[in-house]
Amino acid sequence: MGRIFLEHLGGARLFSCASCDANLTNRSELISTRFTGATGRAFLFNRVVNIKCSKVQDRVMLTGRHMVRDVSCKNCSAKLGWIYEFATEENQRYKEGRVILERALITESDGIDERIHDE
Ligand SMILES: [Zn+2]
Repeated sequence: MGRIFLEHLGGARLFSCASCDANLTNRSELISTRFTGATGRAFLFNRVVNIKCSKVQDRVMLTGRHMVRDVSCKNCSAKLGWIYEFATEENQRYKEGRVILERALITESDGIDERIHDE
């Protein structure tokens, strides 16, 4: 097994895996906090790094039929949420390629603002 290379998006407000603290995304990638997952509140993000995806599944949700993949941490394999591959309803298409992370499975922390050192 080789070393797992992790990316880091940086940013002032970071979201990380609750199990291993791998960086996943940041506040500027956050689209909506009004989603619900298996564990309760879930957030929709534009871009998330350090994740791996399951095979595509056909899932019927409150907002219609979607093709989704389960998303888990690339570092520790903890389940984190899911990614939307395809939405059948026209008004749900904005979610395609976007990632849901369940609030209970991630942690939020303050990042280092790189501009402080950029004098
Ligand atoms: Zn992890």
